[in-house]
Amino acid sequence: MSAQPDLNTPLQYIKGIGPKRAGALATAGILTVNDILHYYPRHYLDRSTVKSIRDIKKNDEATIVGTIEVCGERQTRKRKLYQAVLSDGTGLITLVWFNGVKYIKNSIQKGDRMAIHGKVEFYNGLQIIHPDYDKLDTDADPINTGIIIPLYPLSAELKNARIEHRSLRRIIKTLADQIQFFTDYLNEEIITVENLCSLKYALHNIHFPESLEDLKEAIHRLKFDEHFFLQLLMGLRHRSYQKLGTNPLSKSSPKVKKILDELEFELTSAQKKVLKEIWDDLAKSVPMNRLLQGDVGSGKTIVTILAAVTAVANGVQAAVMAPTEILAHQHYDSFKQQLDKVHVTCALLVGNQKASERKSILESIKNGNIDIVIGTHALIQEDVKFSKLGFVVVDEQHRFGVLQRGDLTKKGNNPHLLAMTATPIPRTMAITYHGDMDLSIIDEMPKNRRPVITKVVDENRLGNVYKFMEEEVEAGRQCMVVYPLVEETEKSDLSAASEGYESLQKTFKGQNVGLIHGRMKKEDKDSIMDDYAKNEINILVSTTVIEVGIDIPNASVMLIEHAERFGLTQLHQLRGRVGRGSAKSYCILVERKITHTSRKRLRIMEKISNGFIIADEDLKMRGPGKFFSTEQSGFFKYKIADMVTDGPIIRKARKTAQEIIKSDPKLDRHPLMKEQLLKDYAQYLDTVTIS
Ligand code: ADP
Ligand code: MG
Repeated sequence: MSAQPDLNTPLQYIKGIGPKRAGALATAGILTVNDILHYYPRHYLDRSTVKSIRDIKKNDEATIVGTIEVCGERQTRKRKLYQAVLSDGTGLITLVWFNGVKYIKNSIQKGDRMAIHGKVEFYNGLQIIHPDYDKLDTDADPINTGIIIPLYPLSAELKNARIEHRSLRRIIKTLADQIQFFTDYLNEEIITVENLCSLKYALHNIHFPESLEDLKEAIHRLKFDEHFFLQLLMGLRHRSYQKLGTNPLSKSSPKVKKILDELEFELTSAQKKVLKEIWDDLAKSVPMNRLLQGDVGSGKTIVTILAAVTAVANGVQAAVMAPTEILAHQHYDSFKQQLDKVHVTCALLVGNQKASERKSILESIKNGNIDIVIGTHALIQEDVKFSKLGFVVVDEQHRFGVLQRGDLTKKGNNPHLLAMTATPIPRTMAITYHGDMDLSIIDEMPKNRRPVITKVVDENRLGNVYKFMEEEVEAGRQCMVVYPLVEETEKSDLSAASEGYESLQKTFKGQNVGLIHGRMKKEDKDSIMDDYAKNEINILVSTTVIEVGIDIPNASVMLIEHAERFGLTQLHQLRGRVGRGSAKSYCILVERKITHTSRKRLRIMEKISNGFIIADEDLKMRGPGKFFSTEQSGFFKYKIADMVTDGPIIRKARKTAQEIIKSDPKLDRHPLMKEQLLKDYAQYLDTVTIS
């Protein structure tokens, strides 16, 4: 191999790495010199994080740097273990390993300088069992020299190949010093205006900062880069939609006016504002690509109906796709109620229809006799063909993949798209994940809506709660009892609900108790929901299948078991299932395993009824990974950026990206930037994005 590696040199050719270690690095996605320079440390050891043994006490989570004084294997009555005593000049601490003794024995020796981290216990003196540890070079002393030492994420594969913090530091240090030629994909102007350090400086200092100030600068630059490229990607996608032509749907319609005039309520000003945004979009000859967010019960449906009728009045068809059959049915009923007044035709297309029925519906969609189709995934089947699809609504859009959305819009000629969600997405998250869409928010509830009274209870108070539910049922109202998804298997989720169902049947002897869960056949689910809607079931026990949009105005009590296991956003969604009618409604959160955090989280539910505030709290407490766990899985993963805390950086990165797209949409004048985008973000790009 040539003497001087460059950024693209594969690691196996680097001296001191070799094929075996290169193979292990590859499992962590590290293939080239560039990749390893971008393998950022996870923690740093420095004066502010390292403690003196003298100052630590039992139960501390401590990081200590010291020298191994003695070490060796020991045999207790029960088992073999390995012990080492570490000194830092202020005291001694014992390190203990019960597992992997053979490995530890080979990797630790008397005289080694080590940084260790772990929970401190007391057993004949201070000790840490199975500490995280890192061997340091003999002169590495964060406390006295002020040096900052990087610690890397180390997978089992890396450790097995004997790649540890120290070896990674050596490899990266050598490479970082060797790389001479280094061009920055951000030009001078951006660097100056945004007050960034150079890429080369950032990559040096993320690994080997001389001061915390330098490290901060490096982190800022690398965070900026991640947000910037994502915003660039989103901006380019947004622009590529703008280049598509479509049917403008601009004619005003007496049908829309009639529906509005005959509504039994007045639209909230938020609904009016959003409707105007949608109408303005529809009137353009580029397709709308808009995300409508609105808390449960904020009245998205009527907005959708008015938009769909506008489309129909302009001579095109509309399709509304919902994630579940129950929800599709409900939409169908809501639409039908309005559409019948103005002679707009509407059909329901779901999975379990009779072949003959399905055939005739498909025929009417194809020949244009049906104006609006409402359905589930059944809408995106091959054989569903439209005469002229011009407007598409995707409800609870996060339940569908981007591809499925595309499968529906492909059935028309660049139809206008309205995606909807009742999960409020905090703003920074929305412009990150949905930066390619325009955003509309219904941030106001219809007037006279009474907030649901929310109470956290422990199991001792359940008796009273059941008594209260009994009274509600006696008064003609209905209750729901929800059991959480249990982590291990889906089966235990079901069994928790089934067991609850059996015991509640005994508790509520005189009442009709029903059970619904995700594994039931569609027909059975629908029939249970029907019975519930007709108040033939008084108390409905359920797994989380009822989470999405069903509307039973007569339900007044929502009891959620093991509430501490749910995310706040999910609790809020569930709570939205009651309080839809005129009766005073209640949400009872049963806290089974009480911890300090569960207390704190559930109290938020008692105090706050605004979904956006709850979502923000949820995001802060659980982080974006958990927040989106089931919903947006597989989406973009950050290396160093953080959606929760990087708000100001995100806004700057977005502004910079948008300015570039405006002045140089094909990135012709930013070739290095373009190269970087194509290289690192290929999987998120499609053919239309840069052209
Ligand atoms: P979501 O946004 O959760 O889909 P819906 O559209 O189902 O909410 O609306 C919830 C209920 O509120 C429906 O019964 C609907 O008729 C009613 N509603 C919608 N808008 C208003 C309004 N402006 N004033 C009063 N009630 C309204
Ligand atoms: Mg809805």
